Amino acid sequence: MYSAYLDLSPTRVKGARALGHVSRRVYFGPLAPLRVRRLPTPRLPGGRWARVRNIVSGIALDEVERTLVAWDPKLAPQAAPRPARVYLGRQVVGEVVEVGPEAQLLRVGDRVVYQSGQCCATREIEPPCRLCAIGSYALCENRYLPGPEQVGGGWSDEMVVHERQMFLTPDGLQVEQAALLEPSAEALRAALRYHPEPGDQALVLGAETPGLLLTQALRALAPSLSVTVAPRQTYQVEVATRMGATRILYPEDGDDAVARMTGGRLYRSRSGAQLLMGGFDVVYETLGTEESLRQALLWAREGGTVVLAGRLQRWTQLDPTLIWSREVSLLGVVAHGVERWPGGMELAPAIVSGGRVSTFTLAAQMMRDNLLTPERLVTHRFPLREARVAIGAMRDRVEHKAIQALLDIQDVASSALLSDAGGPAALNSPRA
Ligand SMILES: [Zn+2]
Repeated sequence: MYSAYLDLSPTRVKGARALGHVSRRVYFGPLAPLRVRRLPTPRLPGGRWARVRNIVSGIALDEVERTLVAWDPKLAPQAAPRPARVYLGRQVVGEVVEVGPEAQLLRVGDRVVYQSGQCCATREIEPPCRLCAIGSYALCENRYLPGPEQVGGGWSDEMVVHERQMFLTPDGLQVEQAALLEPSAEALRAALRYHPEPGDQALVLGAETPGLLLTQALRALAPSLSVTVAPRQTYQVEVATRMGATRILYPEDGDDAVARMTGGRLYRSRSGAQLLMGGFDVVYETLGTEESLRQALLWAREGGTVVLAGRLQRWTQLDPTLIWSREVSLLGVVAHGVERWPGGMELAPAIVSGGRVSTFTLAAQMMRDNLLTPERLVTHRFPLREARVAIGAMRDRVEHKAIQALLDIQDVASSALLSDAGGPAALNSPRA
């Protein structure tokens, strides 16, 4: 098995943290947590496990951040037990090439996409925990219990997974659409986290893949909703418009522009305090930065809502008065699951059952209806053996005007030169 993964042994993590600020090349060097190499072929650990040969995998930006050891070790998730080897790549489509004798859902030859990590279903726990029971498998209370772990991820040429970790790809999806079903489902869950009222003004902070797919999802679910998008970079303005933004808050626009745009009034003090009376009814934060969280809180109106869809991974200073004194609701959102269908939306797919719908099923249906088009965001493609180059290009994505990158997996098997060598030498020359 050929794989790009993280080795989180303390020496590698500490070394990268200590030297990474001297040269970013450290994160791609031989002693870094990121490793790209051949590993022994794993066996199926149970009767309902399957082997999947990967075809195409997307590069999620928060996974790029992980290769740069960018998380704070004092954040809560770091307390959870985790294997020392973390396989990267959760946006992936592949083909089943082997199933265990007790498999009920998958057969050899099925085309599947990766859907979830460990939860009650993959641990075969009956009855499931209360969160799995309502379809929120990403929040499973049993997900850290010991048990067989998957081997390989999307950035590997194959994966060994429990069959319940995979989603059968419906007919009619292009391979690029299937690979990007996961970020599309994430965007849909964020869009469904808050149900807009008629006449609401929404703001999406960020125009990278998560913000762009969220914009498209919002427009599909509530076509009359006004969706302002705030790209951080000029090259993202055009694609934000193409994905359905009704207005653009330009990168150079600031607090005054928001006040003008929403008919609000901005107060400033000599001490630097700022308060906006008025603002957006709902702000979707998709960048996961301290600055964008600050803007989300300041730019939401009194009684408004902020949806935290960005994966902020640092301790952050924020002004708590913006939340309690203005009764702003903060809503977290992660991954996907089974959604409560709010009804009343102009889109009414036949796949809603008992008022509930799987985010993946809904995303696939919306792709077939041309309402979600993640494949239009692909700007860069790399072979898996150039995973380091790909990660470097996405780290430096502003320079490369990149939105979404894909790894083509299947060429690896025919490549003669597979080793842990290779580094950042070609980082400035991604293949468009
Ligand atoms: Zn559970």
